[in-house]
Amino acid sequence: SSSAKFFVGGNWKANGSTASVAKLVDELNAGTIPRGIDVVVSPPFIYIDYVMQHLDRAKYQLAAQNAWIGGNGAFTGEVTAEQLTDFGVPWVILGHSERRSLCGESNEVVGKKTAHALAAGLGVIACIGETLDQRNSGSMFKVLDAQMDALVAEVKDWSKVVLAYEPVWAIGTGVVATPEQAQEVHAYLRQYCTKKLGAAVADKLRIIYGGSVSDTNCKDLSKQEDIDGFLVGGASLKGPAFVTICNAAG
Ligand code: PEP
Repeated sequence: SSSAKFFVGGNWKANGSTASVAKLVDELNAGTIPRGIDVVVSPPFIYIDYVMQHLDRAKYQLAAQNAWIGGNGAFTGEVTAEQLTDFGVPWVILGHSERRSLCGESNEVVGKKTAHALAAGLGVIACIGETLDQRNSGSMFKVLDAQMDALVAEVKDWSKVVLAYEPVWAIGTGVVATPEQAQEVHAYLRQYCTKKLGAAVADKLRIIYGGSVSDTNCKDLSKQEDIDGFLVGGASLKGPAFVTICNAAG
């Protein structure tokens, strides 16, 4: 079980234009967000400046979708955690399944990126999750263990980590995990953390669910004991739907 503060992240991925981002920011600003929860939106790097200047940051915080594994230097095309901190961006999403599969980020790379971002002062939304093949072949818990082991090997202070369980088969597919499927894994992950990091850390750790979360399925998921919030892709591009999800705290 968990005593964690509800957390909702909106991952815009590589979507949007100046026009659509302006519209989304207006929709978000019009929404009512409950006090005492964390809501973080994650635009593509190029729109972060605009969003920072126009989004109501009493309600919403900002996250980047990636950061370089180390500090500034000759790394063409990358943005560093130090630059995000300098710019006033408090969060970063790391280890998203799209970056693992499309950009070849290994468990070890994600672990090192997470440690570097934390050291630079960022909060990290660290993503893990199994593929459908892994789930069906019975290797799901082994896969999750390996993803977690790589984080545990690198992270010293877990107070600024939010763990996002995102089954790959549920991301962008419209096939949401059932509340029972999600709860089973969240409880497993909390148990893993209790064992490896102690009960004090495990109880406070936000474990959020991601994968086809919508304004209609969020409420049943949030009732589950170990689901402390959501990471939302597609539905985070629609202001009213995202605001509804932010209001779904169990
Ligand atoms: C995501 O990419 O983190 C995600 C959960 O996407 P979607 O909500 O679109 O499945």
